[in-house]
Amino acid sequence: QVKQRQPSVALKDKKIVFLGSGKMAEAMMGGMVNGGAVEATQVTACDPNAGRRTYLKDRFHILTTANNASAAKGADILILAVKPQTMALVFDSIRDTISKDCLVVSIAAGFTLSQIREGLGVKRVVRAMPNTPALINESITSWTFTQEVSPEQRRQAKELLSAFGAEVLLSDERMLDMATALSGSGPAMCQLMFEAMIDAGVHMGFARDVSRKLVLHTVRGAVNLALASGEHPSMLKNDITSPGGTTAAALYQLERGGMRTVFSDAIWAAYRRSRELG
Ligand code: NAD
Repeated sequence: QVKQRQPSVALKDKKIVFLGSGKMAEAMMGGMVNGGAVEATQVTACDPNAGRRTYLKDRFHILTTANNASAAKGADILILAVKPQTMALVFDSIRDTISKDCLVVSIAAGFTLSQIREGLGVKRVVRAMPNTPALINESITSWTFTQEVSPEQRRQAKELLSAFGAEVLLSDERMLDMATALSGSGPAMCQLMFEAMIDAGVHMGFARDVSRKLVLHTVRGAVNLALASGEHPSMLKNDITSPGGTTAAALYQLERGGMRTVFSDAIWAAYRRSRELG
């Protein structure tokens, strides 16, 4: 289900080209085209995989090509959505055809703004870090940009990145490594927690599908309550912790197991690793 929005004023008539049209690009195209922010004819999907091109053309009625150089020519916004190990190849394929004023938006993990500037010989670069819920238009995407990106291009980037979820503009590129740890690796950390809770339900005697339903709906409800109420999680937790009750017994064991420090250590480890890789 894609949230419908008004056609984007900032993106009106802009030629938007995806270099690499895999899972993340598809999520972004889906949000943009199906959500109504842009016309399908504004979007070109570039990918060497013929099966991907046919699939995306049928699904979104966008333009497709296997030729990076010709696709990049005349692009107003170029989205780099290939794997990090393919970036150098892509730089080589478009360096001579990309317009110097083109807005380049990279979602490739670990590639810095200056690496992209140097690799492509362009100045207007946005670096963004989406996360996997982008696949259902629920990404939280952090982003930052080079100082040459114009105010109009910033509006374009903001509308583009909010087409498949929410976005947060970070004032410093180094914070992207922090976001990589917290929201990039976050979904996997959450899945591990869900798995632990589901397994505990099975251990008590629930069928696995029943336990899964109870856990996932509990998590969804807790997240929606926290978002809707705007309350700090500690307040919502205290509200349901009766003196001498079941929740107090559970929370005691989680604290005893070092849950807060385990999460903190895990997120710091992901942050350090992100900096090592960058
Ligand atoms: P993917 O493998 O699904 O897609 C990559 C696509 O690039 C493929 O369709 C492939 O055919 C195409 N490709 C290969 N060589 C190419 C070339 N020379 N020119 C053009 N296209 C080429 O990968 P993905 O999961 O969509 O990830 C894309 C980028 O998004 C990665 O850099 C990744 O770091 C970043 N990212 C992914 C996630 C995630 O959760 N998947 C989250 C944040 C950022």
